[in-house]
Amino acid sequence: MNQKRKETGKRSPGLLQKTRTLLMENQEEKSRKQDGTESGLYCHRCANTDPAYFGKDHGLYYCRKCLDFGRLPAGVPVTPARLSQRVWKGSPVLEFELTPLQKKASRQALEVLQSGRDALIFAAAGAGKTEITLESICWALSLGKKVGFAISRRQVVVEIAGRLKKNFPELSVIAVCEGFTEITDADLIVCTTHQLYRYAGCFDLLILDELDAFPYAGNEVLENIAAASCRGNRLMLSATPDEKSLQQVKEGRMEIIELFSRPHGKPLCVPQIVYGPALILFVRSLLVLFRLVRQENRQVLYYVPRKRDGAKVRAILSLFFPTGWISSSSSNKDEIMDAFRSGKTRVLVCTTLLERGITVPSVQVMVYLADHSVFTMASLIQIFGRVGRSMKDPHGLGICYCRKKSREVQRCVDQLNWMNESAAGA
Ligand SMILES: [Zn+2]
Repeated sequence: MNQKRKETGKRSPGLLQKTRTLLMENQEEKSRKQDGTESGLYCHRCANTDPAYFGKDHGLYYCRKCLDFGRLPAGVPVTPARLSQRVWKGSPVLEFELTPLQKKASRQALEVLQSGRDALIFAAAGAGKTEITLESICWALSLGKKVGFAISRRQVVVEIAGRLKKNFPELSVIAVCEGFTEITDADLIVCTTHQLYRYAGCFDLLILDELDAFPYAGNEVLENIAAASCRGNRLMLSATPDEKSLQQVKEGRMEIIELFSRPHGKPLCVPQIVYGPALILFVRSLLVLFRLVRQENRQVLYYVPRKRDGAKVRAILSLFFPTGWISSSSSNKDEIMDAFRSGKTRVLVCTTLLERGITVPSVQVMVYLADHSVFTMASLIQIFGRVGRSMKDPHGLGICYCRKKSREVQRCVDQLNWMNESAAGA
């Protein structure tokens, strides 16, 4: 028996050579079908068919588009990971009971998934998107389905995995992302969209959060890898869905579920817009900071468009208030964030690095030079989504300082007003 296993387990060099030759012949045949636009070659990992993105090595074509995930010969299916299956019938542990509107959205999402369709939850920042997915997760697990939760950014993967561990203390929940790739199977897998390449055809329910965030947004390879990892249905979550998702909704390929009301029921912060020359704007922002920080003892996130503005702004603000500065180049990000969260620094100058994911109770938001092209409608909605998230302090101030009229700033204001009106009518 052991001998037999050894023989079948170890392929002879002759067999390997034969497989390779067969594959080469197959690839050659396909590439001969070339009609001028199509190579006939196909990458099973990222769905690439563009001949420009296939390399050839020792007569064998391979995909160059998803080379970052390892070399995969054209036409070769990705071997699906072997994951455990478990039937679990239970309920999540919740810190707070869901609001009636959250319950309604949660039920709607479940019904869409039960009907075998994909759903998009379009929810305001702070409306509790993750909580709304719990009922669907329980349903999937009760049928022994495999559930994956994928998010663009690594930092959020760790945070969501931590929250799900508390919601499901009986289950094994893992975070799979850069630095955490030793264990890749559990009852519930939370990973970066990047890590989905490990899970080809594995998930019966794939929850995709922050669809519009870097690096997932607009990245065809990651989108195709995500699609390939799901053998069942997808539940997408976003506060600012992109055109592509909304188009899928229009075409009836996906159901949309809206939730614009936060648990405290108060409206979302719609920013004020202040116009003027850059220097005057800075002085005006400084005066508002004096009131907010010195008189009202508030904390402020002060967004700047470019890294080079940040260091200068910080230097000036530091003369008046304990001020931090963070950008993608900061080496001690955790320390800077801890200092702000603990209240040691009162103002945190930042770039769009902090456009999402950060929750600090009672924080106020100012965007200096909001008319700069780096600030899009989606990023501004995320930025002002930081304000008024606390149950104890649901109101707050948001200001856009603009040198000129900006279409994106206006779209952000219109969108937030529309979300507030929709929530009021819900
Ligand atoms: Zn590929």
